[in-house]
This record gives sequence, structure tokens and C-alpha cells, in this order.
Amino acid sequence: MSIIENYQNIKNQLPADVQLVAVSKTHPASSVKEVYDLGQKVFGENKVQELMEKAPLLPEDIQWHLIGHLQTNKVKYIAPFIDTIQSVDSEKLLAEINKEAGKNSRTIKVLLQVKIAAEETKFGLEISEAKKLFVVYLDGKFPNIEITGLMGMATFTDNLPQVKKEFSTLKAIFDELNQLKPLKTLSMGMSDDFPAAIECGANSVRVGSAIFGRRDYFL
Ligand SMILES: *Cc1c(COP(=O)(O)O)cnc(C)c1O
Repeated sequence: MSIIENYQNIKNQLPADVQLVAVSKTHPASSVKEVYDLGQKVFGENKVQELMEKAPLLPEDIQWHLIGHLQTNKVKYIAPFIDTIQSVDSEKLLAEINKEAGKNSRTIKVLLQVKIAAEETKFGLEISEAKKLFVVYLDGKFPNIEITGLMGMATFTDNLPQVKKEFSTLKAIFDELNQLKPLKTLSMGMSDDFPAAIECGANSVRVGSAIFGRRDYFL
């Protein structure tokens, strides 16, 4: 199937109120443009350098989401234009984004990335850390940032009950924090597990290979 067919196929599976972040990592700007021309405006990349190379080749009204681990020393490169940083996993990073957003006279939207997978993962906040960081944010410490929601990744397994259990855990945390301050975005689900994620309450999914085709590596 072509990228265009893949895209239509995914769109047809998504309820109207679920946002699609088209994950274009490792794929060329020309492929992004094909999907953009079908009306897709939100794209995700996981590496700053790749994003910096691609973004200037593409229309300015694309909303770029960073979905991969972000080092504090690279925040300055994307702060002028990034729409949402989905992968915030420390207070230090949040402080840096706040600083750089201020320098650019912008508010940057972020999601807190929470560890929900059973497998050992390098990045993401523990559930307790995420809750604490949200409270620090509510105290008004980061005026140039808007925490709009949470992001999580389930264990890489075909054990569907386990995947759903992990997604449901994140949904419960989302509901809890949403009581403190209304949140918009619960980002969970990728090419292989987005239907389960939506069942469990996701309203934003990050789909890459099911649109653009297989990558040679996972990252
Ligand atoms: C690569 C990636 C995706 C998309 O993965 P696919 O399996 O290709 O859909 C989603 N989220 C994150 C954080 C990623 O790194």
C-alpha cells in the first residue's frame, strides 16, 4: 500500500475526536509532504537533529511534536518553533524549556512522559515523580510552559491484557491530575497498539510505520 492509502486507512480507524500525530522519523521530507497534502498538520519526530533538517523543507503551518528523549542542551534549537514536547521526563528539562520559551516570547506545550511499561525503560517519569512535577507546575514555577497532558508507551508485547492494563494506569493518572487542572491530551498508542489505547481513553495517538512504512530500526 502507498503512504496515501496507509494514511487514509489509519484515519478511517480513528474516532473524530482522537488526534493523529503522524510520526515521520527516518522518513524524508517528501513523504511528510505527501501526507501534509492530504490535510495532516501534526507530525512527530524523535530526534532534534533530524527535526532541524526536515522542518525548514516543509510548510510552516506544520505543528511539530518532539516525541523522543530531549537533552537540555538541545532545547534552544527547537524552542523557536516546536508546538509540543511530548517527552518531558525531568524537572530540569521542564525548567530549561520554560527558560527557552521565555527567550522566544512563546508558550510551549508539553506532555509529561510517564513510565507505564513493565519492561525496563530508560526514559520517563515514575508515576509519583510525574504527580509531584505537576504540583510544582501548578505552583506557577514555569510561566512559559503549558502542561497539556501525559504521554506513555506500553510494553512491547502482544499480550493485549497487559498493554491495556498499562494504558488504563495512565488514564487513571490523567483523570487524577485533570481534577487539579483540566488537561487536554492523553497521548498513548502507536502503530501496533493504538486501537487498545483508544479503548483505554487515549485522545491522541502517535502512528509512524503504519503510515510511512517499516523503519529499519526502532527508535
Ligand atoms: C517511533 C515512535 C512512535 C511511532 O511508532 P510506530 O510503531 O512506528 O507507529 C510513537 N511514539 C514514540 C515515542 C516513538 O518513538
